[in-house]
Amino acid sequence: LDNGRHTPDSVAFYQQGQDESHQRELTLIRDLPNALQSGQFYAVYQPKVDIKLKQCRSAEALIRWQHPEFGFVPPDQFIKLAEHSGNIGLISNWMLEKVISQAAIWWRESMPLQLAVNLSVSDLLNPLLADQISLLLKQHQLPAAALALEVTESAVMEDTASVIAQLQRLRSLGITLSIDDFGTGQSSLAYLKQLPVHEVKIDRAFVKDIEHNANDALIVSATTQLAHSLGLTVTAEGLENQAGLAYLVDCGCDKVQGYFFARPLKPEQFEPWLQQLPQQLAESLSIQSVK
Ligand code: C2E
Ligand code: MG
Ligand code: MG
Ligand code: MG
Repeated sequence: LDNGRHTPDSVAFYQQGQDESHQRELTLIRDLPNALQSGQFYAVYQPKVDIKLKQCRSAEALIRWQHPEFGFVPPDQFIKLAEHSGNIGLISNWMLEKVISQAAIWWRESMPLQLAVNLSVSDLLNPLLADQISLLLKQHQLPAAALALEVTESAVMEDTASVIAQLQRLRSLGITLSIDDFGTGQSSLAYLKQLPVHEVKIDRAFVKDIEHNANDALIVSATTQLAHSLGLTVTAEGLENQAGLAYLVDCGCDKVQGYFFARPLKPEQFEPWLQQLPQQLAESLSIQSVK
């Protein structure tokens, strides 16, 4: 705000803008519970492409909100609000039910994808979480291998001991666990070995310019090596172009997610996308490696 021009007008304008966005936030918080019940939310699925096995067997579920007044509201605008207003559990329960139902449909159709749901720290502090998930899987006759859960690095650091205990419970059910947005929190690489997870997802911040930024390439390659030495797999998030792919291959990344392979897809778009993947992989991976 400090642009050196403190005229009453600009201050009033700023405050009005503040008030409007505050008003919108209050409206979103107020609308959320009903919106979930009245069909304003839906889930999309972004493929995770295994660049070593050259196939796709998993995807991440991402929530979408089509608000009647505001139109499309991105998750970055309402997840934090839901967390702070105590409503995130509603979203997580809705997503778990939705995503497990979708997985059940795909498994019945011989498309056995592992679908990942993003959870917040408060979900992990819910003592009933593991039982609820286990019941949902049973109701839909799905093996635990059909489900993955993503937790951000910063969420785990909020209440490490309880979160680790919960992760252990989920892991013993057979659910795959990922640390999301890795590299953006303040934890050290060594900290990873305390976490009972299967996968590390390297944040998009280190991936998006990897072909231009030697530091990013170094960070991705070192993180991958360490994760592998701990027995974890590595997914790189947010790959947007062909040039970056060769670097990720050289770094030893196992899986790649990003607009380059696919944007988050509606359920009916997934199978057609899968069918063109062999062709897309043959073309994109045949291009010469960078080192
Ligand atoms: P995330 O879990 O790290 O998900 C990845 C985000 O990056 C998604 O944004 C995805 O659409 C976007 N993305 C993927 N590939 C690319 C790419 O190549 N380029 C760019 N620019 N972006 C890419 P989205 O769907 O807007 O979600 C943002 C964040 O909101 C997610 O980050 C996650 O933290 C949160 N979120 C989304 N759905 C849920 C949910 O159901 N529950 C919870 N708790 N959080 C969610
Ligand atoms: Mg995620
Ligand atoms: Mg992520
Ligand atoms: Mg992210």
